[in-house]
Amino acid sequence: MDKLSVIVPCYNEEKSVMLFYIELCKVICRMNHTEFEILFVDDGSSDKTREIIERIATQDARVFFLSFSRNFGKEAAIYAGLKHVSGSYVVVMDVDLQDPPSLLPEMYQILQTGQYDCVATKRSTRTNEPPVRSMFAHGFYKLFHKCTGLKVADGARDFRMMTRNMADCIAEMPEHGRFSKGIFAWVGFETKWLEFENKKRVAGETKWSFMKLLGYAFEGLTAFSFAPLHLSTLFAVLFFAAFVIFTLFCMFSPTTRPFSALTGLILAVASLQFFVIGILGQYLSKIALENKRRPHYIIKKTNLNNQKQIMPES
Ligand code: UDP
Ligand code: MG
Repeated sequence: MDKLSVIVPCYNEEKSVMLFYIELCKVICRMNHTEFEILFVDDGSSDKTREIIERIATQDARVFFLSFSRNFGKEAAIYAGLKHVSGSYVVVMDVDLQDPPSLLPEMYQILQTGQYDCVATKRSTRTNEPPVRSMFAHGFYKLFHKCTGLKVADGARDFRMMTRNMADCIAEMPEHGRFSKGIFAWVGFETKWLEFENKKRVAGETKWSFMKLLGYAFEGLTAFSFAPLHLSTLFAVLFFAAFVIFTLFCMFSPTTRPFSALTGLILAVASLQFFVIGILGQYLSKIALENKRRPHYIIKKTNLNNQKQIMPES
């Protein structure tokens, strides 16, 4: 019998965990010919999330948990999950029921045809989402595609089911500053997309502030593309041209005070230089972080009994 492993990252989700588990169990009942393994990854929650997960795990032998020593972020939680599950099919999904468990039977059926390695999901609408967030997300996916050549569908979720082979390939990518949507696209494999209506969170609050999302987008872009580094060359050409035009203009126009025009130009160039230095800094800090070879996460507690498995790789 095939085993389906469900990885669920959780951070301060005391209100959602039980509701999610109940919904998932309903779907598992419908798929009674499939063996299930549910791995909750508690990403250093400071509320009752870990206690609730542990309680569920003591009552249900299919439930496992990894509990981090602090909050390492959703990407680290997904990575840890991928390294510890053993099913022939692997699912990644959020705990807040924004990723509907009711899609699992259809996803499973599609993979069983053998035609695809992955069934991914995207939202057909972005209702319930602040318009500014939708606008930035839309722009980001376009820019990401232009800079990297990798296609991440607008509205794509991390929610997906993949074959063991694909999950193993992703788990073998040890990079820090992970951006799963980019990684899923980078590893390739035949992917089928399913669409669903955007759902509201069942309880609690989103953990992503606008600034956090902006940082995540920048992280994703610089992880997969060196195009931002080449911006400096483009700016250098543009500003040299501007400099020549300004100088000629100031020399031949008696009414312009050359000093003020040049001051403006110098300020603009200075701000651009800082911008480019910032991009260099982003890449340098990435190199420094990768060089330290720190683990992506530290496991404080788990009920997985394979001790070799719980060591975070160095
Ligand atoms: N999450 C996590 N670590 C974090 C932030 C979020 O494991 O540092 C989990 C969270 O519990 C949820 C999923 O990642 O299961 C998605 O988070 P959220 O709903 O806040 O994101 P959104 O749906 O608003 O993009
Ligand atoms: Mg959510």
